[in-house]
Amino acid sequence: MTEAVLVAGGAGFIGAQTCKALHQAGYLPVTLDSLVTGYRPAVKWGPLIHADLRDRAAILSAIKTYDIKSAIHFAAFSLVGESTREPAKYYDNNVGAALAFTEALIEGDVDALVFSSTAAAYGTPQTSPIPETHPLLPINPYGASKVAFEQALHWMSGAHPLRYTILRYFNAAGADPDGEIGESHVPETHLIPLICQAALGNGKPLTIFGSDYDTKDGTAIRDYIHVVDLANAHVAAIKRLRTGGDSQVFNVGTGEGVTVLETLQTAEQVMQRPVPHSFGARRAGDPVALVADVSKIRGMLDWTPEYSDLPNLIRTAMRWQREKLY
Ligand code: UDP
Repeated sequence: MTEAVLVAGGAGFIGAQTCKALHQAGYLPVTLDSLVTGYRPAVKWGPLIHADLRDRAAILSAIKTYDIKSAIHFAAFSLVGESTREPAKYYDNNVGAALAFTEALIEGDVDALVFSSTAAAYGTPQTSPIPETHPLLPINPYGASKVAFEQALHWMSGAHPLRYTILRYFNAAGADPDGEIGESHVPETHLIPLICQAALGNGKPLTIFGSDYDTKDGTAIRDYIHVVDLANAHVAAIKRLRTGGDSQVFNVGTGEGVTVLETLQTAEQVMQRPVPHSFGARRAGDPVALVADVSKIRGMLDWTPEYSDLPNLIRTAMRWQREKLY
């Protein structure tokens, strides 16, 4: 029987891409999703259980039906701005519901969990690139909710037979190279989809948030990781846990930083058209640079980024923005 993996949030951007990668690696992804922010058409590689993270009966029934031994938890709210306006909503879902989900896993004897965390856990970086040992000093409720659950996972893992892998994502972008799935956030706030929409004339001209940072061109630096590389990191983490690997935390990025302006200029070259833009004020809470130190993941996980060069990342994102299926 094909080994099944329970994927909470498998109808979302990164979750769906991970379901595809799991399928390609010979697993059956079983999606658990409330479809509050996820999309039903994104669930293509295994069954969908349309239920909430707090629905213990549905989770235990799925574990039994599919003989599930491991899980990945993506199902979270992830808008920094919204989190500052509605912090309780973020703690309720990203901590409260995540705890309920984990307790159901423990009750169902699932002993391996991969958890989506974020570079926002580090807050304002004291060093660049950022190692996993950097202090966790989040500066918004979204990052704080992720740190709170990371800590809970540590204690739960001490009290129960549960091993975990925490993946702290840097900037996820790009889309499925086959055009089957991609990101559809409402509202869209992320740089690369907004660049594509501005170039296609589907969106507003881009406002570059801040041109007075202490960087080579004055704009902020990020480490963009292609969603397929990110998905493959989850598969590698599942394989490692399923072969007895211990609990670990890994950054997932490329280790290369690019500025907002470099990203925009690369997009103009790839798309052979101008990206209408203007310069605006810095966005509150934005650190000048977020670049991953990736030595740990490269040393310990059987993983290396293959899709994340910037032109490829933009090409796939562009195709999705043009041909979006949902
Ligand atoms: N950014 C920008 N204009 C936009 C959206 C984003 O200049 O309309 C910048 C943002 O300030 C940051 C980078 O692009 O420096 C990446 O932002 P994004 O929201 O994609 O990801 P974040 O780093 O906030 O997770």
